[in-house]
Amino acid sequence: MPPWPKNSSKFMKIKKGDTVLIISGKDKGRKSKILQVLSKEQKIVIEGVNIRKKHIKPRKTGEKGQIIETPGPLHISNVKLICRKCGKPIRVGYKIAGGKKFRICKKCSQEI
Ligand SMILES: [Zn+2]
Repeated sequence: MPPWPKNSSKFMKIKKGDTVLIISGKDKGRKSKILQVLSKEQKIVIEGVNIRKKHIKPRKTGEKGQIIETPGPLHISNVKLICRKCGKPIRVGYKIAGGKKFRICKKCSQEI
């Protein structure tokens, strides 16, 4: 199997740890870091984005319930990758060198 199957190439442009700009929804305009990539669903979990409140019921009588805030997944079409080099929201290109594939920024042409 090739390391980069054609049908997933669009998705693989975004990786855990990347900084992205949210381009739609209630968190539009925010920039944050990717915490998790859900490749099957083509979704990502971004730090502080799409926050969901989870109510935890008390386990014992006398204990208080808790509310935990966790970021929910967003579809990758709702974000744009921010280039590490030029800091702009960009489209990702690829360069192949020495049998390896690298992501490059289409704006500044730097490897990212
Ligand atoms: Zn760039």
